[in-house]
Amino acid sequence: MASIKLAGVTRAFGPKRAVDNISLDVKDGEFLVLLGPSGCGKSTLLRMLAGLETLTDGEIHLNGSRVDLLPPSARDMAFVFQSYALYPHMTVRRNITFPLIMRHHRWWFHIPLIGHLAKRRIERQPDVAELVDRTARILALTPMMHQLPKTLSGGQRQRVALGRAMVRKPEVFLMDEPLSNLDAKLRTAMRAEIIKLHQQVGGTFVYVTHDQIEAMTMGTRIALMRDGVVQQLGTPRDIYADPVNTYVARFIGTPPMNLLTAELDGRGGVVAGGAVLGLPGPLASLQSADKAVVLGVRPAALAIRPAGEPGTLAGEVTLVEHIGAESLITMKLASTRTLHSEDGSAADEVIATSPGYSELSAGLQVGVAVDTTDAVLFHPGTGERLW
Ligand code: ATP
Repeated sequence: MASIKLAGVTRAFGPKRAVDNISLDVKDGEFLVLLGPSGCGKSTLLRMLAGLETLTDGEIHLNGSRVDLLPPSARDMAFVFQSYALYPHMTVRRNITFPLIMRHHRWWFHIPLIGHLAKRRIERQPDVAELVDRTARILALTPMMHQLPKTLSGGQRQRVALGRAMVRKPEVFLMDEPLSNLDAKLRTAMRAEIIKLHQQVGGTFVYVTHDQIEAMTMGTRIALMRDGVVQQLGTPRDIYADPVNTYVARFIGTPPMNLLTAELDGRGGVVAGGAVLGLPGPLASLQSADKAVVLGVRPAALAIRPAGEPGTLAGEVTLVEHIGAESLITMKLASTRTLHSEDGSAADEVIATSPGYSELSAGLQVGVAVDTTDAVLFHPGTGERLW
């Protein structure tokens, strides 16, 4: 059982607040992902959980007891680093066994021959060997237990690092971008390994990444951060379908959500680029005429029609990308502005996804039909969700 409570956790470096007054609960057995761009404070927050960074303000509780004043070793949390941090001169077996050897550590372990024999004795204890062998089996490391880390691939090294964390049977696993040194294919494989690991060994996981696909596939909940502040905390589905602001809306989803400047028409619809679009129930009731809004629609909600078709926005295809199962169509809109960049500055392009191999080509004039069933509306000034 391991639940974590963060209350007003803050870490300042000089005038900069890397982590700014974060309060959240991590439930027992949860896989919480801290997601955000480089520099948003996610590693600092994880390091404070581990005890590798002090708090400027706030408290951290593990199972109801305050731990932020305790040293890392007293917290029962295992940390897996991006860089693996394996001992290069030790075999895979010794690397995985190392935390168990350290539990029995005595000063004379440093004396070369005596220390060596003592460590080997611990390594060969039936309960220790059995636990290490079982861990190696789960991680498919059994055939390479006598190898040194330098003879392993990146994925295998990361599995050794995971094994070393697992044998401690910690209450909490803390992982800081553990897959970021791996190539795309290995990342996908290791992603699945870590999800399985969580299902098999249980425990509470807090996992840092800047990769939204990792966050969406692995997390039971995601805390999406920006400038030291949690923008939204929710299940992957909540964050995708119900973003609280334009930052979250653009961060999650590939390609990102299209944000179109629009105006409520006072009759249950919205006007964008001269086209009147109907809105679904809750949005339709939010009417006040001439009110400027930002209309958020996912790329799959845009369909390409012949130019001039009633109810569509006039546009021109500027780029067609074939990515296998679907094509990405970028279009420049004739008279609608979009909020495109993360700083909210206006542009005029939208992206649609179209199933299969699209035969469209750049330069073609089209009409863009917008399905507003799952659309969201934001305030044009603050970027906050309007309902
Ligand atoms: P990345 O993915 O690049 O590691 P991050 O989201 O994990 O980014 P942090 O490493 O937590 O971000 O850093 C958050 C902010 O705090 C950054 O602006 C960083 O420069 C600053 N920072 C972190 N550690 C220190 C430090 N020891 N001294 C000064 N500033 C620091």
